[in-house]
Amino acid sequence: MNEIRVHNTLSGKVEPFVPQRPGEVSIYTCGPTVYDYAHIGNYRTFVFQDILRRFLELRGFKLNHVMNLTDVDDRIIANAAKAGVSIRDYTAKFAQAFFDDCKTLSIEAPEHWIRATDYIDDMVKLIQRLQEKSYTYAGEGSIYYRISKFPEYGKLSKIDVTGIQAGARVDNDRYEKESARDFALWKAPKPGEHFWETPIGPGRPGWHIECSAMAMRILGETIDIHTGGIDLAFPHHENEIAQSEGATGKKFVNYWMHAEHLLVEGEKMSKSLGNFFTLRDLFAKGYKPSALRFALASVPYRRQLNFTFDGLQQAASSVERLRNFSDRLTREKFPEGNAPGMAERIEKAANDFDAALSDDLNTAMALGVAYDLVREANIAMDKGEFRQGDVAAAKDFLASFDRVFAVIADTDAEKLAALGYGAGDGAMTDEDVEKMVAERQDARKRRDWAASDRIRKELAERGIILEDGRDGSVRWKRK
Ligand code: AMP
Ligand code: ZN
Repeated sequence: MNEIRVHNTLSGKVEPFVPQRPGEVSIYTCGPTVYDYAHIGNYRTFVFQDILRRFLELRGFKLNHVMNLTDVDDRIIANAAKAGVSIRDYTAKFAQAFFDDCKTLSIEAPEHWIRATDYIDDMVKLIQRLQEKSYTYAGEGSIYYRISKFPEYGKLSKIDVTGIQAGARVDNDRYEKESARDFALWKAPKPGEHFWETPIGPGRPGWHIECSAMAMRILGETIDIHTGGIDLAFPHHENEIAQSEGATGKKFVNYWMHAEHLLVEGEKMSKSLGNFFTLRDLFAKGYKPSALRFALASVPYRRQLNFTFDGLQQAASSVERLRNFSDRLTREKFPEGNAPGMAERIEKAANDFDAALSDDLNTAMALGVAYDLVREANIAMDKGEFRQGDVAAAKDFLASFDRVFAVIADTDAEKLAALGYGAGDGAMTDEDVEKMVAERQDARKRRDWAASDRIRKELAERGIILEDGRDGSVRWKRK
């Protein structure tokens, strides 16, 4: 087995991964802020941490993984107040949607799913520890963290804090590097908004203190791995370090791992830009959960991922190819014995697969290893050169592959049905069909026959028949 190496944002380097206790790994993942439905950009990050945890499990580590739901933050408090409902009532449906989405994307449940609102006491206690050590000051009922008291501030995101004015503060939880300031640990209540009565006064926690308190409460003062999207490195994770290390004097996290963004036409997919898709948007268009998971996992996490429908269709065909190969291994009867060199070939693939993922989770390379093996084994099967004696090893390889990628076992139909989409019932609107037909026309113009065929096939699977006119026009009808 290969040495596992991961990129650590703190050092800016790829380092050998050594957990504090041999065989065990503690992981903290910043979960979603449940003020709305999550989009597929968010799931890029959650699929990354799922690949990480599944790979570590495959390598035999015992995991202690915490993911939180941020169910108190500026936006939730404001939206709940506007709707005149409690925080729990406001966030319930988004939290449930998140759990459903994770299941649909085969994102394994972490050992601990927790909610910020269940840990207010721990947050208050952590703030008190910081107060005792003079890391805080009060202002208009709120409590702020004094970053000038923590000389290492900036070590994760590498921001230069020399020009920052001591005592200048920011109340928003989400702010840019240019506005780095003392940040709120505890926020004074505003009229009409929910607050907690606590020994440090009435109010509610800032977003950053939530994760520090929850992570240390469950995983201890030093954690092996902390994950999130790259936008969380500053200010969220920088502030988590300042809070946790300020309070304990110990290193908070050994390995910080951040996923790059999912982009749409060169821009980060985000709610505020309005350029987002939810899972449900894609399922309504007929795409399958496995295709989306594959598309999100296929680009290594430290590379930006440009989302396109063409990419999603290619992912669907890749999954299909893997599934077909797996079916062949099960259904076909091969001649007895072993094909010369095949056992070694499969063993090499297994080792290369492990080497790729050990190398900072190089998923693209790991997939390449699987494709190569599948292609060669398919050719051998077509020529009658694959033998029954090699089936078990090939199946083992696919099983290890699927413990990480989780796309070969075909559970799409049941997952879609659970979300209320009839499997393959062609529930496409006319508008959706028109869009795909236009995409196909574009592909034909580019003479990209593979893409054009893929779209035709996909439409056919969803009950839409295309009739190409001689003049290049196209008509469609439902079956
Ligand atoms: P939030 O609910 O905003 O706290 O985000 C949940 C997770 O999704 C965080 O780890 C973010 O960094 C991550 N995230 C947000 N937008 C994107 C994106 N476009 N691509 C990848 N990850 C994202
Ligand atoms: Zn967090």
